[in-house]
Amino acid sequence: MTNIITILGSTGSIGRQTLDVAEQLGLTVAALTANSSVERVEEQARKFRPRLAVMTNETAARELAVRLKDTDTKVLGGPAALEEAAVLPEADTVVTAVVGMVGLRPTLAAISEKKRIALANKETLVCAGELVMDAADKSGAEIIPVDSEHSAIFQCLQGCGDRREIKRLILTCSGGPFFGMNRTEAGRMKKADALKHPNWKMGPKITVDCATLMNKGLEVIEAMRLYRLPLQQVDVVIHRQSIVHSLVEFRDGAVLAQLGTPDMRLPIRYAMTYPKRGETPAEPLDLLTCPPLTFAEPDRETFPCLALAEEAARRGGTACAVLNGANEETVQLFLLDRIGFYDIFRLTEKAMAALPVVKAPSLEEILEADRAAREIVSKEHLA
Ligand code: NDP
Ligand code: MG
Repeated sequence: MTNIITILGSTGSIGRQTLDVAEQLGLTVAALTANSSVERVEEQARKFRPRLAVMTNETAARELAVRLKDTDTKVLGGPAALEEAAVLPEADTVVTAVVGMVGLRPTLAAISEKKRIALANKETLVCAGELVMDAADKSGAEIIPVDSEHSAIFQCLQGCGDRREIKRLILTCSGGPFFGMNRTEAGRMKKADALKHPNWKMGPKITVDCATLMNKGLEVIEAMRLYRLPLQQVDVVIHRQSIVHSLVEFRDGAVLAQLGTPDMRLPIRYAMTYPKRGETPAEPLDLLTCPPLTFAEPDRETFPCLALAEEAARRGGTACAVLNGANEETVQLFLLDRIGFYDIFRLTEKAMAALPVVKAPSLEEILEADRAAREIVSKEHLA
């Protein structure tokens, strides 16, 4: 059970919901971090009185230091300060709620200090899942998933002492805002359309990933790393209602599922209270009034990013870091209206085709694969 938390990315969708949960559970906050949202961090710091607040953007850090002069909160700036926040001795749990690959180093730092990791930042596991899981095995740090599908699987696996009993994991996928469209229709979709997710309110990057189904592809890799299973044992089904959060099929034919209302505070709360469960103020699931639960095959033709991520998973090594780096870069360009919907797939596929796969990569090789993938995207999108 968690008592004192550090939140990396406290101003984002997961970060803010984590603070809601922290308040409900009466947790102490040791450190808060963000990139540049100064006002929001100031507000959070005045309320939760952390010992440390970090802004990775240096200008924002200077401004925050002035604003928090009258408080006991120390302010640091720059990316390296994220690692300082991650290893503060008093925190027992670090919530990784930053978006993107930038979460990797601080996550590894927190793991080496044997913190419980409440892991939302999936890009870290996609790029460097083996390194992260090996480091956790070595230090004894617990990794508790926050991503709703992985939290569901984690909950279904309680009491399963032998991973050989798992036949397959079944990740559910809402299908995103463009579900049911063909390629011509989806190709016309712009940023504003992609940002309208039917069931979840999330940050812009993951919301676009949900529209392309890359999010589910990243989650397939995330599940493979977390549960050390091959791609053949991780399936995806479309489930528009986002009520069944994922399932595990065991070798005796039993299938366990975790259900709940689509509210990220539930998996966040479970990551804090695990192995116990506490009362929640959230809406209970009412089976009699909720819509009928439906399941269908994903459309990999209209949403080729899912198959591309599965291909990266098959290739292994640095292929997943290339996939992720190129995707982060293309999604940023799409959010700036500089490229179209299918350019996300096209440019990511190009980066994957151009770069060789390094097997069993070191941290440096992963960071290099990420950099090279981003470079290909920035050059190619102008070509
Ligand atoms: P948001 O975009 O809402 O928040 C991102 C957070 O990261 C903000 O605090 C932001 O600070 C900070 N940040 C952004 N860039 C940097 C940087 N370069 N250096 C340091 N900090 C940075 O994202 P979400 O909360 O939606 O997602 C966070 C992670 O959780 C992602 O990996 C996502 O895939 C995962 N996740 C999210 C879910 C959700 O429901 N939102 C569900 C499952 C997983 P600032 O405000 O200053 O920009
Ligand atoms: Mg998810």
